[in-house]
Amino acid sequence: MSAQTIIIVGAGQAGASAILELRANKYEGKIILVGDESHLPYERPPLSKDVILKPEDTKIEILSEQKLADLNVEVIRGNGVKKINPEDHTVELKNGEVLAYDKLLLATGGSARRLPDLDALGKHVYTLRNLEDSQALVPVLQAGKRIILIGGGVIGLELASSARFKDCTVTVIEQGSMVMGRTSPAVLSEFLLEQHRAKGIDVRLNTKVVNAELRGEEVVISLESGEELIADAVIYGIGIVPNAQLASDAGLDVDFAVKVNENCQTSNPDIYAAGDVATQLREDGQYRRVETWENANNQAGIFARHVMNVEHPKANPSWFWTDQLDINFQFVGDMTAKDWHVRGDMDSGKGTDSSFVMFGVNDGQVVAGITVNSAKDMRHLKKMIAKNTAFEIEKHLDTSLDLKKIV
Ligand code: FAD
Ligand code: NAP
Repeated sequence: MSAQTIIIVGAGQAGASAILELRANKYEGKIILVGDESHLPYERPPLSKDVILKPEDTKIEILSEQKLADLNVEVIRGNGVKKINPEDHTVELKNGEVLAYDKLLLATGGSARRLPDLDALGKHVYTLRNLEDSQALVPVLQAGKRIILIGGGVIGLELASSARFKDCTVTVIEQGSMVMGRTSPAVLSEFLLEQHRAKGIDVRLNTKVVNAELRGEEVVISLESGEELIADAVIYGIGIVPNAQLASDAGLDVDFAVKVNENCQTSNPDIYAAGDVATQLREDGQYRRVETWENANNQAGIFARHVMNVEHPKANPSWFWTDQLDINFQFVGDMTAKDWHVRGDMDSGKGTDSSFVMFGVNDGQVVAGITVNSAKDMRHLKKMIAKNTAFEIEKHLDTSLDLKKIV
């Protein structure tokens, strides 16, 4: 691609990664990064963990001012894009300024799904998506405080863990029958549930909130059963809504998220989308949205290579991690796999000392894997999935055999 102008809308994970990938793939034209936050691009994973637990020691910046200058990027922050005009290849910023592009990347992420009845209370109610949200939780999560978390997904469980480390009294309310039900197989979900309960976290499943009200400085949450729970603060994490309004207003194909092809191109070939805002056409012909740090980086790479006419390497199976209660969990591949087999001791009583590996198997083939406090084994699981390895129960579950040697 000859020297042109690329505008990246959204200064988050995918936006930052796109800059690095464009320059790594020898793009020499102009890059304009437009972010509506006042910050330079930063990592979100520490927001539910280290930013709360050790705010002074935690660095989250992805690209410093110096690095952005070295990469020759024009940065606009605190001023988002209001409108895209695909016909004349321009965007309009919230302050009215109009900028022209040759190629545009939408990397606008998602927003926390809202519960208006809770928001209406006006105080003691929180959600978590950005740095300010996380910083607001630091004074809330103090020893002895009663915290109710609504939603037993990754946000709910990671915050439950951080709140317990801060000696809060913690209750999690999940409407489904499993914790992390959207991202974890049942057997691992049960393990997680036992870990949280063993640490004194009161996890309620299959339970809905039917009413929430303020009583003085306390929040009273009523459950379907009629039971009332009292909290000093309520935090909810019930999923995200992709920030796709700009795309739908511009007439792009949107189905909840922005639809992109295998090259991360939207229905307009000069506009791409990457990260939490995008739903991508996969090899099996289905569109799928993946809300992970790695996916944001991967799709940014796909965008940059396509713009630069560089071939994509073969896609890896998707991977993500979560840290809860001092236990590191890593997941790779298809979490809907039919059969799951445990290698090692899944003794839930051991908590932080637990260490095991799980294989997800479909039709005799390894299609997924999970490591629990065993990060060193993750690369072997990734290789097995990539090589369509046949699952051999005696061999794969024999902990006296080195996993590296049986890949
Ligand atoms: P974001 O990083 O959200 O960036 C989007 C940016 O676009 C934001 O700055 C937004 O303000 C901006 N924007 C929106 N609209 C506009 C506009 N009109 N104009 C300009 N800018 C705009 N994933 C993992 O794999 N492991 C983890 O442990 C993990 N932990 C997480 C913890 C938390 C608390 C959160 C919130 C997420 C976590 N994730 C984790 C998920 C991961 O961080 C996201 O998948 C990733 O950040 C998505 O990147 P993105 O660039 O699509 O969106
Ligand atoms: P999530 O993982 O989708 O989980 C939301 C959970 O809330 C689901 O179990 C959902 O159940 C439940 N829920 C929905 N409505 C509810 C209600 N009214 N009452 C009680 N429970 C309700 O979303 P999240 O935990 O909010 O995370 C938000 C985003 O942050 C995601 O993009 C996620 O990937 C990202 N994140 C990732 C990590 C990580 O990867 N380690 C960590 C933190 C955040 P149903 O499924 O039944 O609707």
